Amino acid sequence: MTVTRFAPSPTGYIHIGNLRTALFNWMIARKTGGQFILRIDDTDPERSKEEYVDAIKEDLEWLGLTWDRVERQSKRLDLYDEAADRLRNIGRFYEAWETPVELDLKRKKQLNMGMPPVYDRSALALSDDEKSALKAARGAGVWRFKLDHARINWTDGILGDLSIDAASVSDPVLIRQDGQVLYTLASVVDDTDMGVTHVVRGSDHVTNTATQIQIIEALGKVPPTFAHHSLLTGPQGEALSKRLGTLALRDLRESGVEPMALLSLMARLGSSDPVELRRTHDELVEGFDISHFGAAPTKFDSDDLIPLSARVIQSLSASDMAEHLQSVPEDIREAYWMTIRGNTPIRADADKWWPVFAGEATPEIAEEDESFVKEAFALLPEPPYSIETWKAWTTAVKGATGRKGKGLFMPLRLAVTGQPRGPEMADVMALLQKKPTL
Ligand code: GLU
Repeated sequence: MTVTRFAPSPTGYIHIGNLRTALFNWMIARKTGGQFILRIDDTDPERSKEEYVDAIKEDLEWLGLTWDRVERQSKRLDLYDEAADRLRNIGRFYEAWETPVELDLKRKKQLNMGMPPVYDRSALALSDDEKSALKAARGAGVWRFKLDHARINWTDGILGDLSIDAASVSDPVLIRQDGQVLYTLASVVDDTDMGVTHVVRGSDHVTNTATQIQIIEALGKVPPTFAHHSLLTGPQGEALSKRLGTLALRDLRESGVEPMALLSLMARLGSSDPVELRRTHDELVEGFDISHFGAAPTKFDSDDLIPLSARVIQSLSASDMAEHLQSVPEDIREAYWMTIRGNTPIRADADKWWPVFAGEATPEIAEEDESFVKEAFALLPEPPYSIETWKAWTTAVKGATGRKGKGLFMPLRLAVTGQPRGPEMADVMALLQKKPTL
């Protein structure tokens, strides 16, 4: 059975970048009738916050990305200790005492000499006496995994065949000086223990994956299938972190973005498949194929969400929208909604057009149109109006003033609705409850 997981650290809100990770993993599980695990990576007690755990769940629920179970790394620390012991026993784990300043100095020296800044493994050359002395002087060290200096190969679900020379990577620190187990170890223990079959994550994790494959094999387990999706950039290719890096899902939600609009965009953006509005989660999952995604950075433009959201809204009925139509009298709610729904990209704005129909719009009249509009309004009878009213009125105004085309219609639209754009004027007039005044 397919098992995937979304593994956020509860140190902040889900943002547009990690939504992709969540969504891809969710779709793989749903497409194959597998399991989707929400794994909370909370081994860092200082940075992990309960409020973010709640917020992450809330955001996923808003999108309908349901999980089959929740796991928390903070409850699994014993398993990580066991794995660490196993690595020690097979000679793949060693303690190192360099301070961050010392490591930095080493790196600078290597770079000056034109060498890659890879940890030089001096800790491996320490004698027992030297180790005791360092321990006495500096306390516990960090624990590093001893990479096997061979090439690490895997076939990536998106990037294809990858090969990384382990000698070009520093032996990863898996346990901090204060004893805290780091993500790299905790994650492989969980992935293998929970039977995770597919790991999809951002391409910033590629090097991690190489080292994790060796750790998994050292622990006698089989690595899952990996796929690394490209990172998002802004519309001009600029780093997302600059402008949108903090674009949290809750901000999008508050700005009125429809969940199916967001999902429809993110489920196909960066792939060879077209972005189209999908009405249901099943439709999202149906055409999804991870191998259709490319390695190039993916441009994200939040403006693309507006037309998609608008299309979601256009498909809703007045009763779907009842909550947002309270200020519209019930007997004309249906007619009102049908008239304006094509001009309302945000649910919460559903009643924004109502003042126009209630005769409370503030007319917009350019100085040069003042006498024209006055003349036109004199030709408009009192309500009730119908779908014929606009045609009859504008024909009369045209006859009286000689104006036609835009010069005729635009000043009248502005005078009646106060806005340069909106629903068909024939529909607007048919619904007007009062004769507009100037
Ligand atoms: N907690 C890790 C992160 O948010 C998980 C990465 C992974 O999917 O393995 O970066």
